[in-house]
Amino acid sequence: MNTALIEVEGLVKYYAVPRQGLWESQQYVKAVDNVSFTIREGETFGLVGESGCGKSTTGQLLVRLLQQTGGSIRYRGRDVTGLDRREMRILRQEIQIVFQDPYASLNPKKQIGWILEEPLIIHRIGDKQERRKIVASVLEQVGLDNSFLKRYPHELSGGQRQRVGIAAALVLNPKFIVIDEAVSALDVSIQSQILNLLKELQHRHGLTYLFISHDLNVIQYMSDRIGVMYLGRLAEIIDVAQAGREPVHPYTQALFSSIPQVKATQRERILLQGDLPSPLTPPTGCTFHPRCPYAMDRCHQEMPELKPYSTGNMVSCHLYEGEEIK
Ligand code: SF4
Repeated sequence: MNTALIEVEGLVKYYAVPRQGLWESQQYVKAVDNVSFTIREGETFGLVGESGCGKSTTGQLLVRLLQQTGGSIRYRGRDVTGLDRREMRILRQEIQIVFQDPYASLNPKKQIGWILEEPLIIHRIGDKQERRKIVASVLEQVGLDNSFLKRYPHELSGGQRQRVGIAAALVLNPKFIVIDEAVSALDVSIQSQILNLLKELQHRHGLTYLFISHDLNVIQYMSDRIGVMYLGRLAEIIDVAQAGREPVHPYTQALFSSIPQVKATQRERILLQGDLPSPLTPPTGCTFHPRCPYAMDRCHQEMPELKPYSTGNMVSCHLYEGEEIK
């Protein structure tokens, strides 16, 4: 699991804010600001952070639903940020997304059979009979039978709709799937069924996931490595697959201290002061400095870089300078 499937380098997404007056200078919301990470073949890379931290925007940039302002995204070593329509159509077979709200992404006027067959028609895969076989097979893989083919999205429960959303992502036989808050709207018992289904499908098809969630328990359960985002940037990447890789960034430590532990080594709860600043006017230097209990003078001026740290994590914090792996 060490070959890089996705390599993100200096990814940037800014949104221009409409000017109020003719003479007002142009302002930008920095949704994603210089983000770099790698997703290895066959792993689940989790992205977590507070609402508005840029995790969903990052996912949408990776599946090319959004155009980046800067930086590069390589898939199997090839930069995919400047592909034309034909090349994008080929890439779309390999890269898919599952959304939080499948009801919004499934055409309410079409039956499930049509919804699942349409991508195969667009990509000119198989004849009618072969396409029906593929659709029946993906339905079965997500735990639904053929009786669902003639149903409409509004006739399904939330869990069944999410299963159809996963089937729609699977039907083109992709290699990489972005799963964006896919269980947040579901009841806890249904959540665990869908999470286990995603794990089973990953194992069966050798899939690679970018798993986005604000729920730390869910992220920990699903991920091999976790990227923690704060105000459009990566604060830390934690290798959870390796035992003992505890968070070291002050923000990540505070975030993880809020998870109840079953173990005797309960982390001390760290309460963050202040609110999340606006991404329109992010603080200078380290953007976490107004809320950080360890902030030093240089934190107000200098943005720390994300560097490999001796525990195996990657961390963006001046506290650890000099302790990084060269
Ligand atoms: Fe805190 Fe400074 Fe580290 Fe930012 S760089 S997390 S302000 S110690």
